[in-house]
Amino acid sequence: MKHGDLVNNKRRILVFEIVGLAFILLMLGFMFYTSVLCREEEIPLYEECHELSQRWALITEDGKTEDVELPCKHKAAPSTKVILEKRLPAYITADDYLSLRTINQNVNVYIDDELRYSFSQPDTLIKWANPVSRYLYVNISDADCNKIIRIEFIKNVGATRNFSRVYIGEKNSLIANYMRIQKSAIVFAVIFFLLGLICIVVGLSLRIATNGLIRVDYIGVAMFLAALWNTTKSDFRDMVFSNISNLHVIPLLCLMLLTIPLALYYNWLQKMRYTRFYQIVIAISLAHFVIWFLLVALGITNYENSLFSTGAILLLQGGGLVVTVIKDAKKKLLKDYLPVLAGLLLFVTSGFGQLAIKMMPEIGEEGTILCMGFALFTLTAYYHAIRMAVRLNSEKKAAYLAADVKSQFLATMSHEIRTPINAVLGMNEAILRESTEENILGYANDVDTAGKLLLSLINDILDFTKLESGKMTLVPTAYKLKGLVTFCVNMVNNRAKEKGLNLIVTVDKDTPSVYFGDETRIQQIITNLLTNAVKYTKRGEVELKVSCEKKSEDDGDLIISVRDTGRGIKEENREWLFKPFVRVEEHRNTKIEGTGLGLAITHKFVELMNGSIEVDSTFGKGSTFTVRLPQQIISWEPVGEISSTENKEHEERRKEENHFKAPGVKMLVVDDVQLNLKVVNSLLKKSEMEIDNATGGEECLEKTKTKKYDIILLDHMMPGKDGIQTLWDLRKDKENLNIDTPVVMMTANALNGAKEEYMGIGFSDYISKPFNLSDLQAVILKNLPKEEND
Ligand code: ADP
Repeated sequence: MKHGDLVNNKRRILVFEIVGLAFILLMLGFMFYTSVLCREEEIPLYEECHELSQRWALITEDGKTEDVELPCKHKAAPSTKVILEKRLPAYITADDYLSLRTINQNVNVYIDDELRYSFSQPDTLIKWANPVSRYLYVNISDADCNKIIRIEFIKNVGATRNFSRVYIGEKNSLIANYMRIQKSAIVFAVIFFLLGLICIVVGLSLRIATNGLIRVDYIGVAMFLAALWNTTKSDFRDMVFSNISNLHVIPLLCLMLLTIPLALYYNWLQKMRYTRFYQIVIAISLAHFVIWFLLVALGITNYENSLFSTGAILLLQGGGLVVTVIKDAKKKLLKDYLPVLAGLLLFVTSGFGQLAIKMMPEIGEEGTILCMGFALFTLTAYYHAIRMAVRLNSEKKAAYLAADVKSQFLATMSHEIRTPINAVLGMNEAILRESTEENILGYANDVDTAGKLLLSLINDILDFTKLESGKMTLVPTAYKLKGLVTFCVNMVNNRAKEKGLNLIVTVDKDTPSVYFGDETRIQQIITNLLTNAVKYTKRGEVELKVSCEKKSEDDGDLIISVRDTGRGIKEENREWLFKPFVRVEEHRNTKIEGTGLGLAITHKFVELMNGSIEVDSTFGKGSTFTVRLPQQIISWEPVGEISSTENKEHEERRKEENHFKAPGVKMLVVDDVQLNLKVVNSLLKKSEMEIDNATGGEECLEKTKTKKYDIILLDHMMPGKDGIQTLWDLRKDKENLNIDTPVVMMTANALNGAKEEYMGIGFSDYISKPFNLSDLQAVILKNLPKEEND
C-alpha cells in the first residue's frame, strides 16, 4: 500500500467520522427539542377547535364524585363504569363534533340521557382483553348547547383508567388539530420507517460487497422492527389505519422477534465467541413466538399479555450481553467494537429516559425516546461496519498490490534464472556431444537431468503465478492431434522405458485430426498427467487414451484419459490433489521429485479452457485422470493410427541433428551475455556455419552494415539498445545490407503469448532460452531463405 493511499484512507475515515458525529449530535438535539422543549401544551390549538378539558365531574359506580381536569388518570375496578359528566358550552354550531381518544376502554356518549355514540371493540380476528385505543368523533349541533354530556368508560382488565382531552369543533379542524399535536410523532414514525428500510438496503449491500464478512444487515432488520413497533404503536396510527385491532398486535410481535436479529448481530460483532448463548436466545425467542401464536389461536389468552415474557427474554439477552462484554473486556477485545458499545449505552440510557417519561401522563408513552436511542445504536453499528468496510477495502488493495509485486518478482526471477540455466544446459549439451569419456558423459547426463528439472520447476512457478493473478490467457492456433500426442508421448517415453513400464497409446481411429486451441497448454496438461502416471507407478502400465465427442458441426469435446497401475490415491486425499504446493502422501513422496504444482496448474488450465477433470482411483491398484476439453474442430478427417512407436521418429530426428550441416550459411548472434554466445557457438560447432557474434545492439548494427547474413539471432534485454530497438533501426536503415534478413528473437522471456507479441513487432521467429540443438536447428532451418534451406 502506497503512503499516499494510506493518507487518503485516513482522511476519508476522518471525514466519515465527522459526518457521523454531526448526525448523532443532530439526532440528540432533535430528541432534546421534541421531548423537552416542544411540549404538547405549548402547541396552540387549531383556530376552529375548542378544548373542553376543564371541570369535569368523574363519577364512579360506587357513587363517588370528584372534579377533574383532563387529561387525567383514575383507579377503578375492572369492568366497572366510570363516568365523566359536564354541561356543554353555548358556542356549539351545526355539524360540530366532540372528539376524544378512548384509551383501551369502551365508550358510550349520552347527551341529556340520549345515547348519541357508542364505541365497543369490533369483533375482529384477534381478541383483546381491553378495547384498543381510538380517536372518536361524536356528531353534535347547536341544539345541544348547554345540555349535559355524560361519557361512560368501561375497561375489562387493569385498574388504571386514562382519560384524554376533549375537543369540540369542525371535523376537519379536529383532525388537523390532532395532526398538529402529533406532528413530531408522525415525523418520527416516517423517519424511523425510512431509516429502517435504508438500513436493510445498506446492510445487505455491505454484506454482498464483502462476501458476507460484514453482517450489519441484522441490525438493519432490528431497526426496521423497531421502526415498525414505533409506527404501529403510536397514537396517530388510528388516524391512518382502519383495522386498529389487528394493527395493535404488530408492535407486540415486533418486540417478540426483535431479540433474533439482535442475537445474530451481537454474535457476529463478538466474532462468534459466544455462539452457544446467542443460539439459545434465538431458540427461546422462536419457541416463545410459536407458543404465543398457539395460545392466541386457541383462544387461551391474547397477545397483550405477552409483554411480560417478551420483556424477560429481552432482559435475558441484555444480561447475557453484559456478561459477554465483561468477558471480552478481560480478554482486551473490546476495542474491536467500542463504538457499538457506546451506541448500546445510549440505547440503554434512552430506555431509562423512556421509562421516566412513561411515569408522566402529561407527556405520554410514544416510545419515541427509546426509538431514538435505538436509532443511535443502529447508527453506531453502521459506523462500525462502514469503517470496517473501508479498512477491508484498503487491506484488499494492499493484498492485491502485494500479490502483484509477488508475481512480478517471480516473473523476473524466473527470467533471470533462465539465462544462466541456458548456459549450463547449452554448455552441457556440448560436452555430451563432444566428449567420448564414459565418466564425463555420466556426469554430464546428471547435469542435464538436474538442469531440466530445475527448468520445469521454474516454468511451473511462472505458470502458476500467472494463473493465480489471472494474467494467463490462452493462445489458440490450429494444431494436429497426431503431433500433439506424439510430442507428449515422447516426453515420457524414455522415463517409462527406464522404469520398465509399458506405455500404451490408444487413440480412437475416427478422432478428428485438426483442431483449434491452445496446443502448448494442452501439451502441458497431457504431459503433466503422463509424467505423474510414470512417476507414481512402479510396475505395470501407463495408458494414454484420446477420443473426441462431437457436439456440433464445428465443436467437439476432446477426451483425454491417462490410466496407470500405480499406487493410487486414497479417497480422503482426493480433495487435496488440485491444491497448489500440496503433495499427498508426502512421506511416500520423499524419493520422488515434485513440488505439488503440476496438478494445480493442470486443473487451472482445464478451467481456463472451460473443460473438466476427473479422478478415478483405487488405492494400491492405480488411477485414471480424465480430462474433457471443448475444442473447435477444423478438420473432421480421421486421425488414423497413432502408437507409442512414433517415438522412433523423434530418435531418428535426434540422429539427424548430430549430422546437421549448413556449410556457408552466415549467421549473426547478438547477446550481451558472453556465455550465451558461447552456447550457440558450441551447439552449432559441427554445423559448418559461419557464425559471427555481437554483444549489443550497436555492434549488431555496425556488423550488419558491412556483411550480409542469412539469419540473425537477437537477444531482447540488452544494455544500451535492446533487441526491439535494434530491429527497428535495422529495418529503417535503407543502406543496411540486412534490411530483409530474417531476425529471430532469442530470449529468456517465456511468458505466455510472448511469441505472438514478438512476431507482431516484426521478428521473423522466436526461440526461448534455454534451448537445445534441436530447437535451435528447427528455428534456423525454418527461417533460412528458401535456396539455403534446400
Ligand atoms: P507433484 O507430482 O509435483 O508432487 P502434482 O500436483 O502433480 O505434484 O501431484 C500432487 C500429488 O498427487 C502428488 O504428490 C502425488 O502424491 C499425487 N498424485 C498425482 N498423480 C498421481 C498418480 N497418477 N498416482 C498416484 N498419486 C498421484
